[in-house]
Amino acid sequence: MEIKPLIPFHPDFLEAIKLNQSIESELLINALESDSCLSIRVNKSKKINIFNNNKVVPWCGHGFYLEQRPIFTNDPLLHAGCYYVQEASSMFLSHVFNELKLNEKKINVLDLCAAPGGKSTLILDHILPESLLVSNEVIKTRATILRENITKWGLPNVAITNNDPEDFKKIPHFFDVIVIDAPCSGEGMFRKDKATRNEWTPQNVTLCAARQKRILNDCLASLKPGGYIIYSTCTFNEKENIENVQYFQSQFDLKTVEMPLNKSWGIVATAKGCFQFYPHLLQGEGFFCAILQKNITDKITTYQPKVKNKYDFVSKNNIEILKHWLKTENMDFLQINQHIHALPQANSQDIFLVMSKLYCIHAGVLVGELKNSQLIPSHDLAISTLILPSIQKIDLSKSQSLDYLKKNDNMSEFPLEKLEKGWFLNTYEGQNLGFSKKIDSRINNYYPKEWRILKNL
Ligand code: SAM
Repeated sequence: MEIKPLIPFHPDFLEAIKLNQSIESELLINALESDSCLSIRVNKSKKINIFNNNKVVPWCGHGFYLEQRPIFTNDPLLHAGCYYVQEASSMFLSHVFNELKLNEKKINVLDLCAAPGGKSTLILDHILPESLLVSNEVIKTRATILRENITKWGLPNVAITNNDPEDFKKIPHFFDVIVIDAPCSGEGMFRKDKATRNEWTPQNVTLCAARQKRILNDCLASLKPGGYIIYSTCTFNEKENIENVQYFQSQFDLKTVEMPLNKSWGIVATAKGCFQFYPHLLQGEGFFCAILQKNITDKITTYQPKVKNKYDFVSKNNIEILKHWLKTENMDFLQINQHIHALPQANSQDIFLVMSKLYCIHAGVLVGELKNSQLIPSHDLAISTLILPSIQKIDLSKSQSLDYLKKNDNMSEFPLEKLEKGWFLNTYEGQNLGFSKKIDSRINNYYPKEWRILKNL
């Protein structure tokens, strides 16, 4: 049996933990040496019940623990966006959104540090369809994986941006909620990813704490008076957590917000509105979350300038074509460089504003292209919640689904004769995986090449 070498903790980290009166340091260190737990969160819009017998994450009703790690890549339902592999402590955002009743009115939410998309997909399941999520990632290469995960989630009330936090000053008083899941020193990940212990230095903690201050300072103008900041890190470090929250309150017109907790959950309230997750006290990794509210000033202004949309709307005739493919009620259809995007009418004005002021890399659901009065559907449409159930489809076995997701040309025992010519959806256990097209006796696989499962897995 291979024995994994233990990766030592930095002595300054150990000392800081030991000096912290509120931490039972020995229990914490032991927990960091043990195995991490595994959890997933199911997509509320894509109903699956395969995890119903698993233990539920106490603070998130649709998060479930897994006892063993499956080979996720080989599960077609993961590729269909039916669930997201997410660390349990981070699902606390579900409890926060529920307690703040953020699903009871139309709001604009910014997820400022969003890639790879764990919090964003959770937020989409906790807001009304009329509300808008702006999911932002400053690092371009990381924005690509964010777009993939959001697309798989399938909902249209979202725009993805690739901006620096300070760019949000251009849309003052626009958001009701800003989620800042800040880049941090990552002490809470020392168990799940032991190699991160090598990256920890006291200098990096100082750098992270300063960057977190800057991020909050830069985005605060875009928050409405009365709006919420949900600030989180995956570290135990007080400089990045409680001390930063105290700094935010000393510099800005912010107050912390109390949140009821069930004692049995094991979450430690370190101050009013500040919550610390320790792996020796609960089933989850190290995490910190603070809820702050911007005070309501006398001059409440909401930023709602009328922005002229610079793109063409799809003509009524062409919308008739789209009606064969997707739900068109209460949707606006925009033509952007040949491609049709479906945006919920309830937030299209807000999306136009975001598109005009920020670097928006995606909005709504990409429907496809119209050529000679025919729709060439996009993959995004196949896995979106807008697609009509009446589209021709074929339910595949698990091995056929994996062949499809690998873009194998010869799928085993594929029932070609059952299908009519043209586009059809490949499904697995009733969930859409993507389009193919039957042309005479041939099938063309339209699964996106960049998302395919690599064949040697
Ligand atoms: N919220 C994500 C999720 O739940 O999947 C995880 C976010 S991760 C903790 C922090 C993110 O902040 C990273 O994607 C990183 O690229 C981004 N980031 C790094 N530096 C940043 C900065 N100066 N301003 C804003 N975001 C930054």
